[in-house]
Amino acid sequence: MKKGKIIIANWKMNFLLKNGKQFVKKILINKKIFKNKLIICPPTSIIYEISKQLKNKNIGLGAQDCHFEKFGAFTGNVSPLMLKDIGCKYVILGHSERRIYHFESNLIIKKKLLNAIEHNLKVILCIGEDSKTKKKNKTLDFLAKQIKETVPTKNLANKIIIAYEPIWSIGSGVTPNINDISNIHKFIKDKLIKINRFYRNTKILYGGSVNNKNAKKFLKINEIDGLLVGGASTKLNKLISILSI
Ligand code: PEP
Repeated sequence: MKKGKIIIANWKMNFLLKNGKQFVKKILINKKIFKNKLIICPPTSIIYEISKQLKNKNIGLGAQDCHFEKFGAFTGNVSPLMLKDIGCKYVILGHSERRIYHFESNLIIKKKLLNAIEHNLKVILCIGEDSKTKKKNKTLDFLAKQIKETVPTKNLANKIIIAYEPIWSIGSGVTPNINDISNIHKFIKDKLIKINRFYRNTKILYGGSVNNKNAKKFLKINEIDGLLVGGASTKLNKLISILSI
């Protein structure tokens, strides 16, 4: 098994300041036993306080979304520059919950991605098919379109991490079989290389109902460079055990 894979903790809209800080404090106490690299993506409200806790601790910090402009009349939004200003190094873009509840298109996601990278954030770009698409056997076409419409042709290989997250697996307790994930990751890598050969080294993570019981079997696969974890990343023992595999 390749050591030192990436584990992204997507806390979604969970944790108030006090609980979030306590959680991070406990993470830091256990850090010595981690074998994988952790990136925490808290809700925006507590990013700044957590960035202070994580200073020089070798744990990444990211946001869960950003706008495609730097400043302006965009009520309720936060820009990449603002995220950078409060200590973020990463931002998740194109998460299915943004695509579904906020009607984000590939076009908008690409604009966000370019702006985030311009402001020196690394982008964790989520792609993944819904259950209808899977049932129609159209998963690969669907992913190819998402990749084509969101990944720029210029070489941004070390600025982008791809997270393959089948929507039907997120929060459902159901995961794809290992062979399918492995093949899909190979397919994604091929598509990326066709866009620009520099994407050969781009990391591709898996996300969807990962927990402390199934994480090992995913991390064993060569094509999987890490995991994006939602629910289980808000449970201290589960997250610590995933990080220690
Ligand atoms: C996610 O929302 O990115 C996710 C993978 O969630 P969960 O782990 O809860 O399925």
